[in-house]
Amino acid sequence: MPSIKLVFFDLEGTVLCKCSGATETKVAPSSWFTIAQHLGEEALNKEKATQVRWNNGEYSGYLEWMEDTICIHKKYGLKRNVFERILGTVDLMPGAEATFDSIHSAGVHTALVTGGFKEQACRAGVHLGIRHVYAGCEYFWDEEGRLAFWNLLPADYHGKVDFVRSVARDYGYCREELAFVGDGQNDVHLVPIQA
Ligand SMILES: [Mg+2]
Repeated sequence: MPSIKLVFFDLEGTVLCKCSGATETKVAPSSWFTIAQHLGEEALNKEKATQVRWNNGEYSGYLEWMEDTICIHKKYGLKRNVFERILGTVDLMPGAEATFDSIHSAGVHTALVTGGFKEQACRAGVHLGIRHVYAGCEYFWDEEGRLAFWNLLPADYHGKVDFVRSVARDYGYCREELAFVGDGQNDVHLVPIQA
């Protein structure tokens, strides 16, 4: 029986606590919801509407959903300082440091995959010594701190499966040598994975 060589983790609600104010019905990373909250009621209602459209299958995929949400951030004037403050207030899940220390001490590597923001994922990755970090969205800002550009990657739902398969294939690990820890509906596609 092969032993576990690599453990993949979801970010929000798993390595990090959920953002304050996030609803239980929110399937997408809760930082999206919290940012919309800070942009006002109209922005929040539009954000909730994207959730409904996603649940109704009206988007071609996760990238189109993210693009729609980012348009809300752009329209309602998300600034870099607000973005960083929101992401910076999210704590590590209690026990996260000890958990990663224990895994790494056993010679097992870790990876992080999230449909959320690269800035947040990399901060956790650096702090916890995570070897691979893959995130759905990275923001770029102009000199006035306004959202200027964004890079989107398919890092949620089936995109998580693709990432796990890709990393496992590169290392030559079989499925029995992999583990995944997550908390949401967006992680369930990983359950029947065939590495
Ligand atoms: Mg999660």
